[in-house]
Amino acid sequence: MDKLGFIDDEMLRLGAAGLLNVVRVIGSAQGPWITVGGREVLNLCSNNYLGLANDPRLKDAAKRAIDEFGAGPAAVRSIAGTLTLHRELEKRLATFKGVEAALSLQSGFMANLAVIPALVGEGDEIFSDELNHASIIDGSRLSKAKITRYLHADTGALEAALAGSQAVRKLVITDGVFSMDGDLAPLPDVVAAAERHSAMVMVDDAHGEGVVGRGGRGIVEHYGLHGRVDVEIGTLSKAFGVVGGYIAGTRRVVDYLVQKARPFLFSSALTAADTAACIAAVEILQASGELVDGLWANAQYFQAKMRALGFDLGRTETPITPVMMGDAAIAQKLSAALFDEGVFAQAIGFPTVPDGKARIRCMVSAAHTVADLDHAVEKFRKAGRMAGII
Ligand code: PMP
Repeated sequence: MDKLGFIDDEMLRLGAAGLLNVVRVIGSAQGPWITVGGREVLNLCSNNYLGLANDPRLKDAAKRAIDEFGAGPAAVRSIAGTLTLHRELEKRLATFKGVEAALSLQSGFMANLAVIPALVGEGDEIFSDELNHASIIDGSRLSKAKITRYLHADTGALEAALAGSQAVRKLVITDGVFSMDGDLAPLPDVVAAAERHSAMVMVDDAHGEGVVGRGGRGIVEHYGLHGRVDVEIGTLSKAFGVVGGYIAGTRRVVDYLVQKARPFLFSSALTAADTAACIAAVEILQASGELVDGLWANAQYFQAKMRALGFDLGRTETPITPVMMGDAAIAQKLSAALFDEGVFAQAIGFPTVPDGKARIRCMVSAAHTVADLDHAVEKFRKAGRMAGII
């Protein structure tokens, strides 16, 4: 018997359902145009919201940091010590987010794995929006707390679940901006419900920072909820343009996580180059909201044109632009047709989005020109007509 035969069966099933991931290989820096297989294509896939991933100021900061601090962090911070750069990044992130303290980690995914099991455990209860990111789901499972999923953005359902809970320690978790739909969490109502039931509140602001709120300060700033959200999770890999994650909150919470968060205690730190590039990104955002304004102008322009063509963009309220298809095979076919026409826009199916809700998710950035966006719209028009979607 072939003990690995299940792999072939599953790969065949994924292929037949149009759910097999094709990972494109990129031969250039991230930007509005990238090179794939020697061909220049318009990039509508990246989370490089502000175009910072290839910004000369970030690259210079990274190069200088390598010269001063070397290439690798050498060990975990609690054992080998932390760089002055890590501390500086955390101070700047805390100032930017309007909180007392921040802690940087290796990724946003790690940040969720770090925080949730440190805050709740066996006998406690997590209340999680059903569309929360995979890293929240995995962090919740790791915690061993009871997980109660509530209907997406339904604060009535959340309130009822909180009211029915016997757990002493309760934690409500929501994405700030939902990554596959682009809608905002109803955070003021989520916070109010949590307060009525003495539950902690945690928000994943991965798609909010650099995008929503004054100058891109995130969802808590957007709704004016400072001091009422216990923990924020962020990523440094999207609007900030680099890689890494962080936790933002009170000094009390961050000091506790330094003692308890396993990815902090058992996995090596961000490199000096990444950290310095992140510092440069935060400085740029702290100094001006110009890039954020450019992002929104581009997003509004693109979305208006796509809607005018008859595309269904779901419930987006942000630059995340899902072009809804429903059927995964149709989404894959349309994505392939766009790619043939030089537009890189990835199809997304189950399990990243619910079954039957496949889409092509377009990510507009501040770095796209109007000509880039017009080009994308024209190619979508052609491919959409061919597929009979518009
Ligand atoms: N949370 C959300 C809501 C995300 O969209 C993502 C990235 N897809 C993450 C966390 C993970 O961030 P990172 O890529 O830094 O691990």
